[in-house]
Parts: sequence; structure tokens; C-alpha cells
Amino acid sequence: MMMGGGGFHGVWRSGDRAQRPTQITRAMLVRAASYFRPYLHEIAVVLLTVGVVSVIGLAPPLLIRALVDQAIPQRDTTLLLLLVAGMVAAPLVSGLIGVVQSYLNTRIAQRVMFDLRNDLYQHVQSLSLRFFTSVKTGEIMSRLNNDVSGVSRVVGDTLTSIVMWVFQLVSTVVLMVSLDWRLALLSLAIVPALLAPTRRVGARRFEIQHESQRRQAELTAIMQETLNISGYVLMKAFGRERFERDRFGGKNAELMDVQIRANMLGRWFRMALQVFESLGPAIIFLVGGLLVIQGQMTLGTVIAFVALLGRLYGPISQLANVHIEIMGSMALFERIFDYLDTVPDIKDAPSARTLPAPGRGAVAFRNVGFEYTPGRKALSEVNFEIEPGQLVALVGPSGAGKTTITYLIPRFYDVSEGRLELDGHDVRDLTLDSLREQIGMVTQETYLFNASLLENLRYARTDATLEEIAEACRVARLDDVIAQMPDGYETVVGERGYRLSGGEKQRLAIARVLLKDPRILILDEATSSLDSQTEAQIQEALAPLTRGRTTLAIAHRLSTVLAADKLLVLDGGQLVETGTHPELLARGGLYAELYEIQFKPQLSGAQLPVENGHELATATPRGSDDRRTWYRQEAR
Ligand code: ATP
Repeated sequence: MMMGGGGFHGVWRSGDRAQRPTQITRAMLVRAASYFRPYLHEIAVVLLTVGVVSVIGLAPPLLIRALVDQAIPQRDTTLLLLLVAGMVAAPLVSGLIGVVQSYLNTRIAQRVMFDLRNDLYQHVQSLSLRFFTSVKTGEIMSRLNNDVSGVSRVVGDTLTSIVMWVFQLVSTVVLMVSLDWRLALLSLAIVPALLAPTRRVGARRFEIQHESQRRQAELTAIMQETLNISGYVLMKAFGRERFERDRFGGKNAELMDVQIRANMLGRWFRMALQVFESLGPAIIFLVGGLLVIQGQMTLGTVIAFVALLGRLYGPISQLANVHIEIMGSMALFERIFDYLDTVPDIKDAPSARTLPAPGRGAVAFRNVGFEYTPGRKALSEVNFEIEPGQLVALVGPSGAGKTTITYLIPRFYDVSEGRLELDGHDVRDLTLDSLREQIGMVTQETYLFNASLLENLRYARTDATLEEIAEACRVARLDDVIAQMPDGYETVVGERGYRLSGGEKQRLAIARVLLKDPRILILDEATSSLDSQTEAQIQEALAPLTRGRTTLAIAHRLSTVLAADKLLVLDGGQLVETGTHPELLARGGLYAELYEIQFKPQLSGAQLPVENGHELATATPRGSDDRRTWYRQEAR
């Protein structure tokens, strides 16, 4: 299958957008906030604890003031002890509340992540094959992993911190003004100058975060492509380890570079804030000191003011940074929303009907045209009908459009022109579930999950009983293989089933479809040559699979073209010949040519279909019924 394809805007747009980060919009903020809506109760509790902690935090400076202005000058030991006890109790209580707060915080953040991850998985799963053929798997993995957990990191820390700092700030300002408005004004005068650069730093952070996530995705894609079995074998076979190491190293260096820049971003700004924080007390001591000397203020008030300064500048500098952090997390949200906004191009029509099961299994292509990439026709004007229960073989040179035809029936893609009917219904008018329920596929390469044989078989039907599974395996000639496995049905097949042979995997695929029991079977015969015994076993397994079902087979075997009720010969996306094997052979067209090259050589092989000791496949095959007896022989 080729990659690429236009017309599917979501994916390319996301790539472009990653290059040119957009601004944060109000809509984006509202959308990000909507993920917190279900947890409003918990958030309210957190806010309450934040309020309590901020109020408790005001106590120590007031206690200091009472200590300096009253307890010490009045030599009141009891008051002294009480004030000191208060100084110990205040941080203890707020510390305990802090623990509860962190717990709630973490829970909210993790639940938001949980929802985001679920939404993202569910949405990406609903996207069409077109999406998956145009995006690197590693890129998808990275958005689900790195971007979502990045959001979690930021959200967990910042959300409540913002509120906490705002509380602290407001309560401190109120207290300061009530203690002495002149010193309060002095303390606040310099604040605007502090906040000025945050906007610029924030915007830069948004960009760098975008870049960082993009680099991470690239790195994940390389890992995913080269550290799986097929990629590994390819890399070793071509001796490309060094090349891959260098490629990985290069991307890794880019990531490191961007991470360093991200960490250093706003460092100067933070330094300025720190210097300012230490200058503040000096100014207050100077002005406050003068006021004390003039008898306009008590010493305790000045000391309390200096103690409060930390509660003023701390939150301000934190809030300035929070703005920058939020810009960073918005970049992550944007990448996640970008996927969530990719509209599935294959989905149920609003008026979609359920295809009554079991259907008859009649398939019709009416003037079907299809393009993967606009302007480049993969199929044009394809017309044919398959009667229920017929076996139809697709033949044609490589790239003729055979696979494409099989992809259109279960709506992996939708036709670009014309219509495709199943039992007289346009497939686009049927629900995807009911349509795919009726279709079984055996592909050239059998995909298995790295799980037990049983789990892989049950994938077809979770409620299949052990007896049904055993029967399907018996019919698919897999029972002997399983009996010899160390753990029988519990044997784990390994990544993509690499612990099974090609022939065993194919028979497992057949057993899986037998369990599903669909009305229509799409069969892409393996091109790889198998030894005659395995070949015979697979043919034996296929016979009961095709019996009573409408079968559309991409034929690579002589036996299949001989057994077919009808052959569809494709060339360059067009249906050029239709007929039975003898008819087409007699016609002397493309099929006759293909037969010479592709099918006839198989006659000399040891894999001729045999029944009762007689070869059935001959250059001039017998009548349809005879041929079908071989292909659809009873399962032993
Ligand atoms: P083969 O026997 O080699 O598997 P085929 O007859 O099954 O070939 P198709 O896979 O249907 O051929 O491909 C038909 C045409 O569509 C080819 O020209 C192919 O390059 C093109 N094509 C297939 N998949 C895609 C895709 N995802 N994006 C763009 N073009 C594609």
C-alpha cells in the first residue's frame, strides 16, 4: 500500500500547524476548561482548603507583630508562650490541609488525563484507514503518551497553585492595607514592572513546547519503526544499524537542544524576580525604619510587613510563571484537540439502517470509481455483481486495484464515484457495525496480538465457547498444531505471532473467521510459496470457510481461479475481462497472458488439487460443479 493521499485535511493540517504555532484562543481555553467541569465538586473542596490555608498563612506575621509590640515590651511570658505556640501550630495545620489538598489535586488532574486519554483513543480508533496510512504510528503514540502526560504534569501542579496564589495575594494585600496603606502602596508600586515580560516569555514558551512535543513524536516514531520485529529484521538485513543509530542520535540531539532551551526560557526573567524579592525588604526597612524613628509606626508593624512581603512577591512571581506554564500546556492541549478535531471520514450516516443479519450476501459494484489521491484514479467505472454464495476471483497484475476493491466492501474507504451495494443497499446507508458484522477477512499477512492462542481466536467472538473454538480449529486444521503446543490454547503467540509459522498463522486466521461466521468472505491469498503439505492443509482449511458464503478472493493460486464461478480481471483500475476460466482462456486476452505467467507454472508443482486420487486442475477444467467439489470439499 502506498502512503499519502490528499483530501484528508486533518492530518496535514496538524503537521502544518505544528510548524506555525497558533495563538491561544478563548475557545481553546474554554474547551480545555470543559474537561474540568465534571469535577467541579472536588475543585470546590480544593478551593475551600486553599482559602483556609491562605488565611492561616496570615497568622505568623501578625503573631510576630504582637510578639515585638506587646509580649516582649510588656514582659508577658504567658502571651509569649501562646504566640510561639501559635507560630508552631499555624504551619502544622496548613501543612496537614496541604496533604489533603495535594491528594484531591492529583486525583482531579489524573481524572482529567484519564478522560483525555480515553477520548483520544476512542476518537483515533474511529478514524478511517486513510488516517493511519498517512500518519506515523509513533506520532500517534506520542500524542497519546507524551502530550497527555505533559498536560497532566502541568495541570496537576498549576491549577490549584493559581488559585492558592491568588488567595494569598488578595488576603496579603488586604492585610497590608489594613496595617499601613503607605507601606502597602510602596510594596505594590513595582509589581506592574515585574509582570511586563511575562507575555513575551509565555508566547515563546508556547512555541518551544510545540517544538519539543514534535521532536518527541519524531523520536518515538523512529523507535517504533525500528524497534519492532519487522523493522529490526529489515535494519539487520540491510546492515543499517549505524544509519539508524545516527538518525536516532541526530533527532535525540535536537530534542535535547529544545529541552535545554525550554528549561532556560525565562531564566533571566526569574532572576530579575528573585533580585526584586530581596530588594523589597530593604526598601520597607528603609521607609518603615524612618517612620518608626519619627514615631509614626511600631517596630512590630515593620517586621510584620517584611514577613508579609514574601507572601506578596512569592505569589506574584509564581503567577507570572504560571502564565508561562499555561501557555506551555495550551500547546499540548492544542496538539490533542487537533487529533480530536480530525473528522472521521467514514462514519454512520445520520439515517443509517441496520443490515438485517444474516444477509443474503449479494454484492454489486455499480460504476465504481475511487481515488486515494485526488486526480489519480485507482479504480474507474467498475461494474460487477456477485450472487449470494458465489466464489469470485480477482486477478490482475500488481497495482491493478484488487486490494482496493476488497477495501471498499467493508467501507475502509468510500467510493469516490458510483455505488457499492450489499443485498441491494448502498453500503453508505448501512451502519458500519451491521455491515462489518457480515464480512470476514483473511488477509495475506495474518495479524495476531501478542497473547494466547485462545485470546487471539476469541477476538472474533468473545462469547465463543471452548467447544466452538475447538470445532473451528478442527475445521481449520489447526487442532493438531495446538495439541503439540507446550501450553495448548494458552500458548502465547509472541509479537505479531512470530512464534507460529506462516501456514499456522493463516490457519489461525481461517479459524478466527469461521468463529465469526460472516455471510461474505474476503480472501487475499498468500503469494508466498508454501511447501506442498502446508499448501494442502491451508486449502483444506479454506474449503469449509468458503462453503455457503459469498467469497471474493484475490487469487494467486490456480486452484482458486479454477474453482471460481467468475473471474474479474483488473488492469490499471479497470475491469477488463469477466468470465470463467475456460471462457477467458479461450478469449486469449489479458487473463490468458496472466495464466501463462502466474497460474500455469503451478501445474508443474506438487500442489495440484487432488480428489480421490484424480487431479482436478487441468488446463481445460471441467464443469463448474466438478471444480467446486474440490474447492468446497467437505471438511474431514
Ligand atoms: P498487488 O497485487 O500488488 O497487491 P493490487 O491490485 O492489490 O496490487 P492495490 O493495492 O489495490 O493494487 O493498489 C491500486 C493502486 O492504488 C496502486 O497504483 C497503488 O499504488 C495505489 N494505492 C494503494 N494504496 C494506496 C494509498 N493508501 N494511497 C495512495 N495510493 C494507493
